[in-house]
Order: sequence, then structure tokens, then C-alpha cells
Amino acid sequence: SKETLILLYGGRSAEHEVSVLSAESVMRAVNYERFIVKTYFITKSGDFVKTQEFTELPAADEKLMSNDQAAAEPKISPAAIYEKDAVVFPVLHGPMGEDGSIQGFLEILRLAYVGPNILSASSTMDKLLAKHVFEAVGVPQVPYVAAFADENQAEIAEEVVEKLEFPVFVKPANMGSSVGISKVDDLTGLEPALLEAYKYDNRVVIEQGVDAREIECAVLGNGGEVAATLPGEVVKDVAFYDYNSKYIDNKIQMDIPAKIPADLAQKIQDFATQAYKAVNGAGLSRCDFFVTKNGNVYLNEINAIPGFTQWSMYPLLWENMGLSYSDLIEKLVDLAKSAFEIRE
Ligand code: ATP
Ligand code: MG
Ligand code: MG
Ligand code: MG
Repeated sequence: SKETLILLYGGRSAEHEVSVLSAESVMRAVNYERFIVKTYFITKSGDFVKTQEFTELPAADEKLMSNDQAAAEPKISPAAIYEKDAVVFPVLHGPMGEDGSIQGFLEILRLAYVGPNILSASSTMDKLLAKHVFEAVGVPQVPYVAAFADENQAEIAEEVVEKLEFPVFVKPANMGSSVGISKVDDLTGLEPALLEAYKYDNRVVIEQGVDAREIECAVLGNGGEVAATLPGEVVKDVAFYDYNSKYIDNKIQMDIPAKIPADLAQKIQDFATQAYKAVNGAGLSRCDFFVTKNGNVYLNEINAIPGFTQWSMYPLLWENMGLSYSDLIEKLVDLAKSAFEIRE
């Protein structure tokens, strides 16, 4: 009989819409010889709603329910998603999806789930904590200053002037999809950028801006057994890779594999694997790097549940290595099951 794959999508975070697109892509690519797909939508206010169920490939125009439709449906208890032996794919980004909270909930329910565990999700979602971990294992990063909303902001500004050079990037510690991030060109721009970032988190990172290529590497695996792809490049003709350029304007072009020397690619793969293992990576992650003109490599961040549409960097990097999108989904389910067996 077929296995049940449960897709959790939507969610409370600012990355809600991205999640709907990723889940829709997954729903279309699943091997329906092996799986039945049940979908559950998490509304922007955090309610769970049961949405469609698929036993075979849906029609090309069939869409997953979005927030307005789902808000009219009856709420269920989150625990009602439980089904013995089912595997959950939380296709959720950002806070309450990628930060360990949903993973903890699924462990309490005793369900197998795709992707990061509690530790790898929570430690990579927080950009400040992640920096400490990457530093400890010797993976290079740009200089930065940590800021808290309830600190003396004038002292933060002094520290920035002392340690960094403009432009700097101001980021909420706990977010994704460039939400709340600003590029700041001089000291007068610092305060408004901090206020914007504090809307999302009381912990903020101020980073040295670098003029660099953005090179990304896809990592797949559990524990000590992980594989990294040849890197890809995000080629952008915008000042930075903000939310609009990512999802609205389609200003992004991907170069897969990245046109970089083989030894540099290898170095990036090694750093990616090292950083992934340091956070106890599970399932998947996209490790994002900056590469400067003189060849310096810096790890920017690890995205534990990266954009996962069929046209997203992560699946395309694997496709380039010979692993199709559908096979990748199966591989992730198998990794989820083996992590579950070890837990239980
Ligand atoms: P994601 O959608 O990948 O989760 P995010 O919200 O976690 O994104 P970052 O990747 O940290 O945010 O930053 C978003 C973008 O801002 C980067 O892709 C890059 O274009 C630009 N950027 C961030 N930090 C720096 C930096 N220190 N120097 C130069 N550009 C930067
Ligand atoms: Mg990110
Ligand atoms: Mg992200
Ligand atoms: Mg990023």
C-alpha cells in the first residue's frame, strides 16, 4: 500500500507566500506510485486547516489553497494531522517553520519529518548564534556587530564605526527572504535600518558589506553522512538580493554550475559540509557564500529549509548532479525515515 506524505505549508512567517509556491511544486512532483499526499495549510494567524488530498498527479491548473480560501475553512487541532507511519514535509520557511518549533511539535507527535531537526533548524535560523558556531569550526565570515533593541543605540553606532566600514547590512537575527534587511551606506542610515530590523526581532546583526559574487551550495544528508553539490551562482543586476528581486520581479538569474575554478568550488563544498555538520544538519540545507574579487570566501548563512520550488536553486543544484526533483523528494523522505528510526 502507498505511503502517506503530509505537506505542511503556509505558516505564520513573512515567508508565507514562498511556502505556498514550494508546496505546490512538491505536490506536482511527488511519485504517486509510492505516495498519497495530504496537505495541511497553516494560516497567517497560525490556525491549521485540512486542505486537499491527492492520490494521483493533480490537474495542471489545480492550486493548493491559499490564505483567503483557507481562512474560511474549519480549523483543526494541529495534533489532528497525526497518522501512523506518515512522513511530514514541513515546506515552511522562517520563524515557526524553519526555527525548530514545528520540528519539536512533530517529534512530540512521533512523526517522521523531512529536513532539519530541532537543533539544526534553531541554530541556523538565528544568524547571531550561527555565527558563533561557524566561527568555532573555522569557517570564515564577514566581520559583524551584534545589536539588541533594548541596548544603548548610540553605543551600537560607535561600535559599528569602530569595527566596520560602510556599507553595512542590517538584518534581524531570526528571519529569511531578505525581510527586514537593509543596506546602509552611511551613519545616518543606521538608525532607520535598525528600527526596521527590530520590527522582526529584538536581536539584530550588523554586517560588513562586501562587494562579492553570491555562490550557493546544496547539502543533503543526515549526521556524518552528507553530500554537497557543485556550487551555483546567483547572478543579480540589483544592489542586493532583496524580497522583490527574489520573488516579485524575477530579477535573478542562476548560473549552474557557477563559473568558478575547480579548487574554489571544492573549498566551498568543504566549508558547506563543515558548517552543516557543526549544526548537526539533517535532511537538507542551502549554504550561501560570498566570494570577493580577490578570492576571499565567506559563509553568509545556512538556510535549513531553502526555497523548494522546481525552479529554486536547491533542487536545480541537485538536478545538475544528476538527481531529479522527484528523486530528491524521495531521497529526503528516506532520510526523514532513517532519522525517525534512530530517534524512536
Ligand atoms: P534567504 O532568503 O536566503 O533566507 P535572508 O533573509 O536570510 O535570505 P541574507 O541572505 O542574509 O538574508 O541577505 C540577503 C541578501 O542581502 C544576500 O543574498 C545579499 O544579496 C545581501 N547581503 C547580505 N549580507 C551581505 C553582506 N554582508 N555583504 C553584501 N551583501 C549582503
Ligand atoms: Mg536566510
Ligand atoms: Mg531562508
Ligand atoms: Mg540568504
